[in-house]
Amino acid sequence: MIYDVIIIGAGPAGMTSAIYTKRSGLNVLVIEQGMPGGQAATTHAIENYPGFKEPISGPDLMLNFFEQMMSFGVEMVTKRVEKINISEPVKEVVTSDATYQAKALILASGAQPRLLGAEGEGKYRGKGVSYCATCDGFFFKDKDVVVVGGGDSALEESLYLSKICKSVTIIHRRETFRGAKILQDRVYAAENITVMMDYMVEEIAGTEDKVTALQIKHVNTEEASSLATDGVFIFVGYLPNADYIVPENGLLQDGLGYIGTDETLMTDQPGVFVAGDLRVKTLRQVTTAVGDGALVNVAVERYLSEVN
Ligand code: NAP
Repeated sequence: MIYDVIIIGAGPAGMTSAIYTKRSGLNVLVIEQGMPGGQAATTHAIENYPGFKEPISGPDLMLNFFEQMMSFGVEMVTKRVEKINISEPVKEVVTSDATYQAKALILASGAQPRLLGAEGEGKYRGKGVSYCATCDGFFFKDKDVVVVGGGDSALEESLYLSKICKSVTIIHRRETFRGAKILQDRVYAAENITVMMDYMVEEIAGTEDKVTALQIKHVNTEEASSLATDGVFIFVGYLPNADYIVPENGLLQDGLGYIGTDETLMTDQPGVFVAGDLRVKTLRQVTTAVGDGALVNVAVERYLSEVN
């Protein structure tokens, strides 16, 4: 069968796209490789998504999205997308065991944590190196941890970890944080958070099965030192989930692989749209992902009415 639209990814952008396109009477399939909710589902508390007077946990908010989407009868399959063929009017989405067809595609596969690139990072992943405080924070109850990064994620997750761990040391490569002032103020007010500015992590070291220390270097003096820790949480930005997209698809991508669209969220390939973090944009949050999900529906409907 040929769907009107296939949505790749069931994060906030994908699920909102599904709600809007389904309510527009379109025949919709959502393909998600793991748990619905995307990165928002790994965030411990979201306090800037309007409509909730108290912070809501990421998993709870995403469960609400999911249940709302399913209440409209949206069809969803759990599969990993391996490639897309988009040169013909009928687009193909290829997964490991099936190929799906649609007249339009909404790419909403989001982004994933960027690796730090320090020696030992891969070896100790899951053994003291983590990219998700909500998922792994409890394993470090009453222990000493390091957070690497200086953006909103690093600050927010440090605050979360400070409530579970004995101490949190933030290591940032510059002398000023990138994250919001309100979060900086909370970080500096927390008694068990220490901030180390102008440091890079060179190596994550430990025993066979756990992290015990970091080798760090001061950016200006280049002085090297060792810092004992039980774990390290890395929040140094994100990269797009775009490995199913190849140059032959002809999609405009920026230097990091994010996909460019026009203001209607259509790419330079007719019938292919992007919503959420995968798109070239200035602010990647649940609110902007939701906005994309609503907006893209208008363009998809218009496109389908022109080609049908
Ligand atoms: P981000 O804003 O890109 O910040 C990444 C941080 O990691 C920066 O401080 C950067 O340092 C540092 N960094 C990057 N590469 C590094 C490396 N190789 N070694 C050491 N440090 C490195 O990423 P984010 O904090 O994950 O936020 C991503 C987006 O989500 C942002 O738009 C953010 O506003 C949004 N967000 C919002 C909220 C909220 O509103 N509550 C919460 C979480 C995330 P430099 O500063 O030197 O570049």
